[in-house]
Amino acid sequence: MASRSEASTAGVPARGWLAATSVLSIGLGFAAIVALVGGSDEPGPWLLAGAAIGACTTILLVRSRLELEPEPRDFAREDVVLELTRALGSAVDASAVRRLVLDAVTDVVGDELRYTAWVAINARGVMYPLEMVGPTGRLDRANLGIEGALQGLAPVGAPRRTVDSAGHPTIVVGVPCRTGEPAAVAVVTLGPADVELDATLDMLGSQAALALDALAQAEALHEKRSEARFQQLVRHSSDAVIIAGRDGRIRYQSPSVVRVLGYLTVDLDGTSFDRLVHPDDVEHVSGFMDQLVHGAPESVRTLDVQLIRADESVIHAEVVGSNLLETPDVRGIVLTIRDVSGRRALEDQLRHQAFHDALTGLSNRALFIDRVEHALARIRRSDVPTPAVAFIDLDDFKLVNDSLGHGAGDELLCVVADRLRTCLRSGDTPARLGGDEFAVLLEDAPDMASVLEVGERILDALHEPVMIDGRSVYARASVGIATRRHANMTPDELLRNADLAMYAAKANGKGCIEMFEPSMHLKAVDRLSIRGELERSVDRGEIAVVYQPIVQLGSRKLVGFEALARWRHPERGAISPVEFIPIAEDTGIIVPLGKHVLNQACGQLATWQAAYPQERWRMSVNLSTRQVLHPKLLETVDEALTSSGLDPSTLMLELTESVLLTDSEQVLRRLHRLKDLGVQIAIDDFGTGYSSLSYLQRVPFDVLKIDRAFIAALRQDRPSATLVRTILDLGRTLGRSAIAEGVEEQIELDGLLELGCELGQGNLFGMPAESAVIDEMLAERAAATASA
Ligand code: C2E
Ligand code: MG
Ligand code: MG
Repeated sequence: MASRSEASTAGVPARGWLAATSVLSIGLGFAAIVALVGGSDEPGPWLLAGAAIGACTTILLVRSRLELEPEPRDFAREDVVLELTRALGSAVDASAVRRLVLDAVTDVVGDELRYTAWVAINARGVMYPLEMVGPTGRLDRANLGIEGALQGLAPVGAPRRTVDSAGHPTIVVGVPCRTGEPAAVAVVTLGPADVELDATLDMLGSQAALALDALAQAEALHEKRSEARFQQLVRHSSDAVIIAGRDGRIRYQSPSVVRVLGYLTVDLDGTSFDRLVHPDDVEHVSGFMDQLVHGAPESVRTLDVQLIRADESVIHAEVVGSNLLETPDVRGIVLTIRDVSGRRALEDQLRHQAFHDALTGLSNRALFIDRVEHALARIRRSDVPTPAVAFIDLDDFKLVNDSLGHGAGDELLCVVADRLRTCLRSGDTPARLGGDEFAVLLEDAPDMASVLEVGERILDALHEPVMIDGRSVYARASVGIATRRHANMTPDELLRNADLAMYAAKANGKGCIEMFEPSMHLKAVDRLSIRGELERSVDRGEIAVVYQPIVQLGSRKLVGFEALARWRHPERGAISPVEFIPIAEDTGIIVPLGKHVLNQACGQLATWQAAYPQERWRMSVNLSTRQVLHPKLLETVDEALTSSGLDPSTLMLELTESVLLTDSEQVLRRLHRLKDLGVQIAIDDFGTGYSSLSYLQRVPFDVLKIDRAFIAALRQDRPSATLVRTILDLGRTLGRSAIAEGVEEQIELDGLLELGCELGQGNLFGMPAESAVIDEMLAERAAATASA
């Protein structure tokens, strides 16, 4: 090791060495950093290696200098430099570097130090003190006069000696950063400093610059890598990625935008993101963007939105927005857009299927009940009858299915659905509850009259004929309406009431509307007890027969009677056949009941014929399906004829079209056997069923009875006249006669006469009446004829 005197004489050349070694060590450090930045993807080991090489070089050079110049004060100073070099290796940021350097300066200058300052240099080359340390620790930003020392100094270069504003000796040494921010260190001493101090300070400055550059490089590299990673991610994402600025204007679009949305970069660059948004969703999106822009950095939000593609088609997109406005590599709102149209369509389809009727597309029962529930919950006013529910059941729909096939039945149901849609307001819900059962929820009606009006509109719409397979089909319906009656009404209660009202409409002869009344509950209970009582009615003699005259329309000459059953219930009074015949059909009681009516009617006609032998009247008796299919039908009819002694040709059996369609071949065989007995056959309520012409030709019938619905319509419109004419023409073509049913008014009679209809029955000529009343009528007629 060299002596202290040698060191003092060799001071100046030794400083040259020191400067040279410093420069070399900095150069090596840079070489290492450049190698790691430019040549590798994995900076960690290279960075450390670079820093280590730099440090080691410095240590070696300092050691070798120590061997040349064994000055004791220099030993201490160089130890400090060595220590600093080691410490800087683990500095994590610029402030740590500053602190270590200033502490090292304090150690190097020792007792002579007034204070030392880290001097920052701004872009215009102005130097200003950033951090100050005195022998006892940090100093506040008190005016120490350092600014004066810095004034006019060149910011870089070798140590410069000057004085501060207070006249204290000051050395300013540059921290020659290349990558990091340039700086300087100012050292203010109490008295003049020794010249060797410059060289040590110069080394400290170089070490600081090296450390700051290494940190800056590492940070730049990190940024570059994270930006590259971000770019990679965005470029290869299958989702479209758009980066918008604070103002919502598009600054970047990933290549996949072309595939997902069809726009090129030139189309979108600088335009507002709103341009891609469907008008329905613009407001929604602007709220979404606002929340993102004003939200916390890196906050994420998602949104389902409809976007317009370049070809103007609309897609459903899921947009994930991230606020990366503060993120240096991005500085924008990142919108990741995924086309979910397919998924959405499938979801919509599944949801639709779960809540809609597949055939008509109307709401199904589940959705309907849900809507009723919501409507009931929503209602606030107590004086409105809504929500109201209308139950609509097609009359005799089975006939359409049986005669025209299920395809035609389906078509009719679809037409009914369409008509329901058109006669409702947008807030009302039409539904198909199953089979031929429909329902409508009316959400908003001020009073009962307007509820009823909707019911009538529905009925009118359904009663328009429907063309199916070139044939006019009538979808008549019975409508039951129930309204909200009290605040706690449940959907079940409302629906049950509407159902009961609909039953009442059916019982009232179909094709009409009934509003629910509480008494209908009792009637429903009644129906059950009626069933039991009906079984005993025939034996108890409660079934009576009334007779309605059938006349020649032109002359009003009596040509016959229709026998109609009446149930005279001991407590309930007269019960209409419309009510009890269907129950009798259901239970099978129709067979003995029908036999009773047949015998009565045959016996009665025989009596009247005997009283008026010059007359030749006919007696019509209704037969239901069950009676026609009953194995003993022929036997029963034969017996009735035999026991009454009636001429078989004066008995006319009336069957509805529905009977003909039940089991065509068997029914046809039966009818032929009846014809063999010599009785006549009429098709009742003609026009309400859908028998095909080819089938009708095979039916051995004698008379068509035109349903009273067509006759009643003759009062107002011409199309009905056309229909009645068609039926009459049909009868003529087939060589059969026709009887108009339910003639009530003169205008109908006039119309019928004009159309050439010969026979009719109805209240205009005589209501159904008991035999005693008819006795009197016949006697009066006979007397009138005799006196004439
Ligand atoms: P239907 O065979 O078509 O009988 C004619 C119905 O029209 C009778 O109703 C009759 O009272 C009614 N009517 C006649 N003229 C007029 C009129 O000008 N205006 C109106 N509004 N109605 C008129 P009713 O007696 O209530 O019988 C209803 C249905 O019940 C009958 O219709 C028939 O299908 C069935 N029915 C009645 N008695 C029997 C029976 O003994 N056996 C079977 N199987 N069915 C019967
Ligand atoms: Mg009849
Ligand atoms: Mg009839």
